[in-house]
Amino acid sequence: MYRRWHDHYVIPAVTNFARGCHWGARRCIYCDIVDLTMQRMGPRRIWRWVDLLHRQYGVNLIYEVCDNFTSFAFSDREVYGRYGIALAERPSWLDRLLAARPAHLRDVDWFVYGRADDFAQHPDLGGKLKQLGVVRVNMGLDHADDRMLNRALRKGNRGGAAANREAVEALAAQGIQGYFSIVVGGPGETRASLDTVRRFVEWATETMTGLVVCWDPSILLPLKGAPIWDVLTDPRKGSVYFKNLGIDVPARMYEHFRTTYADFDTVDTQEITREAMSYYCPDISYGDAEELIHWVYALCEQRGIVPGGYGIRGLTTGIGTPLREDAVAAPV
Ligand code: SF4
Repeated sequence: MYRRWHDHYVIPAVTNFARGCHWGARRCIYCDIVDLTMQRMGPRRIWRWVDLLHRQYGVNLIYEVCDNFTSFAFSDREVYGRYGIALAERPSWLDRLLAARPAHLRDVDWFVYGRADDFAQHPDLGGKLKQLGVVRVNMGLDHADDRMLNRALRKGNRGGAAANREAVEALAAQGIQGYFSIVVGGPGETRASLDTVRRFVEWATETMTGLVVCWDPSILLPLKGAPIWDVLTDPRKGSVYFKNLGIDVPARMYEHFRTTYADFDTVDTQEITREAMSYYCPDISYGDAEELIHWVYALCEQRGIVPGGYGIRGLTTGIGTPLREDAVAAPV
């Protein structure tokens, strides 16, 4: 992969200098990350680690696996203020990380995870990531329909599809690559909303002019531990959520999911996804969602973009249909 995405020899190191997500208290509907509390290492200490990796192993790409790195573009005052906790204003962690960087580490590249909404709220975020040396952002764009983004997938309240467009444009303006995921087959998905996704994927691919390195499409999987599991098994939570989406689900659904899929370790992911869709997607079938996934794969093949779910496609989509050999023959 690295050979395909870089024009120079890359020695990557996977790091976890920060953890968590500022959207963790509300969280995206499919997010099953156990602890999203925001934690981070001090900037000066980080650069000491990067320096060591650089000198001893020649590392020139930091693959920072923080759940949502762009959370740290917000000041602590802004994040804690949402919970009524008053803090003194001080620069965000990202600003302090930039300020603390030693001159000799300016050429080290970064690959991070981000959230589209964060770009909409911080128009200078793309520039700051560029300044840090970020060459690629892994981002869950997920959808392109406001209702699906804001209510079904709970991606955010402020931006919706407009935030996705702003994030794509911000990355394109800075020449930063995008590794994007799409999630379809969520509650209330329709043929029209699937078409919106198609148009958005085409638009983003064009707008990024060769900078989209991966489209990773999947069908929403109701993971145990994620809010989607709670709304499928708990009538108190489910009734509010589905009412808000204008979807009528039968009362038996909650008991059914609770008992049938109690042992999630043995669950057939394709079966549970199909079943969930039969309750909350009255307008489309599982096959319609599957068709969208194959459409994205075909686009990737056409444009020389790496298709997501590489090697674990059966797990991420429940489809398990391999692409043609020439489409997946990228060097690892
Ligand atoms: S943005 Fe990512 S880490 Fe944050 S709640 Fe959503 S899926 Fe989880």
